[in-house]
Amino acid sequence: LTPLLFILLDHLHTHKYYNCSSSASPSPSLHHHITKLTGISTNSTTIASVSTDFGRVIKASPAGVFHPLSVTDITNLVRFSYEGPQRFTIAARGCGHSIRGQALAPGGVVVEMRSLMRVGVERIRVCSTEMYVDAGGEQLWIDVLHETLKYGLAPRSWTDYLYLTVGGTLSNAGVSGQAFLHGPQISNVHELDVITGKGEVVTCSENYNSELFFAVLGGLGQFGIITRARIALETAPERVRWVRLIYNDFSAFIRDQEWLISMDQEKKKKGFQYIEGSVIMEQGIKSGWRSSFFSGGDMEKIGGLGGEKQQGPIYCLEGSMYYNNVTASKVDQEVELLLQDLSFLPGFSFTHDVSYLHFLDRVHHGELKLRAKGLWDVPHPWLNFFVPKSRIQDINLGVFNAILKNNNSMGPILIYPVNKNKWDERMSAVIPEEEIFYSIGLLRSGLHDLEYLEKQNKEILHFCDQQGIRFKQYLPRYNTQAEWMNHFGSKWDAFVQMKMKYDPRAILSPGQGIFTSSL
Ligand code: FAD
Repeated sequence: LTPLLFILLDHLHTHKYYNCSSSASPSPSLHHHITKLTGISTNSTTIASVSTDFGRVIKASPAGVFHPLSVTDITNLVRFSYEGPQRFTIAARGCGHSIRGQALAPGGVVVEMRSLMRVGVERIRVCSTEMYVDAGGEQLWIDVLHETLKYGLAPRSWTDYLYLTVGGTLSNAGVSGQAFLHGPQISNVHELDVITGKGEVVTCSENYNSELFFAVLGGLGQFGIITRARIALETAPERVRWVRLIYNDFSAFIRDQEWLISMDQEKKKKGFQYIEGSVIMEQGIKSGWRSSFFSGGDMEKIGGLGGEKQQGPIYCLEGSMYYNNVTASKVDQEVELLLQDLSFLPGFSFTHDVSYLHFLDRVHHGELKLRAKGLWDVPHPWLNFFVPKSRIQDINLGVFNAILKNNNSMGPILIYPVNKNKWDERMSAVIPEEEIFYSIGLLRSGLHDLEYLEKQNKEILHFCDQQGIRFKQYLPRYNTQAEWMNHFGSKWDAFVQMKMKYDPRAILSPGQGIFTSSL
């Protein structure tokens, strides 16, 4: 470490670890070894702050927390574990916005990546001539956006929420309403700097060290710690025409969504640059379904649909058309033309006109409201999965209209289609086999009903298995290697080979629970 000195800390902790299969407590001698390292904090408040995550479903304490001041600090830490007599696990932690303990390091060391943010050290650099930004793995996407906007530029592909780190989302995929057009965030990266599990610093891209490059993208933190990503930029739009359309017919809803995501191939008229959708449950309407998008009057109108005649849920298609000063005069007409071809309920289109920044940062506005009500730092037993297009009707019938029929818990249920051809097969991320698949997110809060929601999640996964729906979980957390093998399918062998090559002592990202000992 910097410097690699030992200090004596006879501070032993008891480790709490629930619900995870990886080895929980280190031996007392290993614990002693870790807590002696310079720069490792064992302060109980610091330990507690990294012992759970946004999901608040799993808790596991590390032996220590490391606050690096430079990339070299992290390299030295990893080398120390890799080369030393006593291996210990290391988890890079972005913001800990994971759901099921993926950024935890039970009995190991958590690296607080955000410590790399220091005054005077430039960790976001825009190259406007070549249209890319170099961003540290610890950087928040909101900060990347602010910096790139200074040049009139912005990344093309986003997540719904921007207070996530670059390294964190690139370890998963980074999926939102732009993915149908530009692919997930991992499809928009030119180059990475990575510290492997051997403590080597490697620059990689599609053309050099490509094996590592593709392994790391969607690689769940298994092959290296991302310290820099070169991200593709486009000219940033200035404003966004943001539309929500209400449907009571699922077939019409998905037909329109699928038509919209295929439109740019047709080039007949301008389409949306962002497409998502959500399911609004009957109970949700009755119990006062809320969103900052809709006015009180709008909600009453939508709520009126939930009467006797409406059997089952209502669906909401969300689309955005980007524009700037030059194209502003045409946007009204373009949106109108587009809506003419869609089959939403007449009179049920709702529109906002907002700045691009406001649009991208929309979930943060919701966060502030939930925080004010004490509803942000609560359990989030979220379930995200990708479903092939051919089975989406089964999900509607078996999940939205049956298992979730009486769902009245808070939090959106997202559903939108994505084009598979925007994903590179060489990346570690796994997706269904069909050309179009749906991203489904049950983003429910479990303030009082965590156990009930977890039971329902299991029921949904069981239903999919029983029906032979070849879905893939997104942001998964499995307890056994057999489940991970099933998850990665044909990519599993390559995944293991990459692990043996770049992290053979299974040091990195232990919270994923994929590899629990040296290979
Ligand atoms: P962490 O949770 O801290 O880490 C996630 C994993 O990546 C861990 O295994 C960790 O060890 C590893 N890791 C972290 N940093 C690095 C690094 N630099 N190098 C290598 N590995 C690293 N996801 C979407 O795709 N689309 C969305 O629209 C979306 N919306 C969200 C909205 C909210 C409110 C929340 C809380 C999450 C959302 N997510 C979404 C999920 C998000 O992508 C994941 O939580 C992701 O893990 C990023 O969070 P983080 O940066 O805090 O990473």
